[in-house]
Amino acid sequence: MIKEDIIYFGKRIYGQGLSPATSGNISCISDDNNILITASGSAAGDLTFDDVVKINFKGEILEGNKKASSEKNMHIKIYKKRPDIKAIIHSHSPEITAFAVSGLEINEVIMPEFAFYFGSIPISKYYLPSTIELAEDVANLFKNKNAVLMKNHGVIVGGRDLKETFYYLESIQAYCKTYLCAKLLGKVKALNKKQIKEIDNLKH
Ligand SMILES: [Zn+2]
Repeated sequence: MIKEDIIYFGKRIYGQGLSPATSGNISCISDDNNILITASGSAAGDLTFDDVVKINFKGEILEGNKKASSEKNMHIKIYKKRPDIKAIIHSHSPEITAFAVSGLEINEVIMPEFAFYFGSIPISKYYLPSTIELAEDVANLFKNKNAVLMKNHGVIVGGRDLKETFYYLESIQAYCKTYLCAKLLGKVKALNKKQIKEIDNLKH
């Protein structure tokens, strides 16, 4: 994956309100097995080539004149924990972050497709952004999940490439918007145990 991919998906992420102002960051494994990551303070919707830097797995800059995202350790730790993950997006989407600030895991089974692909999405403890404690807690939760809510902060999603990762993020956003709208209508009706078992059976 290359810098153009990050710039392209940055525009799509920003365009859908998933990354207000300069929040969030995007990375992917480069063709030479290092990490391309957005620079500190860059805005997803306005990324240029200079806003994407290359770092190694120690966090050292290999290419670029800007500082790597302050959350680089979180990206590095997830890539180390999950070699199948090749692209990561961290987002402060307001709708998803509403769950994170409420301390709520995403675990109500309200739509079959979401349940099939995600099951539930766990939530980390609260840590100061960009700390090694936050990076470790989030990476541990990635052990068998492709998305984690970060308490009072946002969400982080990983996939096999940037397109898949973006679709995961978009799906989580759709879940959160649907859930919040249903709450406004008055009642969220989750699927029952039998219906959930039928979805599980589709996996085998
Ligand atoms: Zn953040």
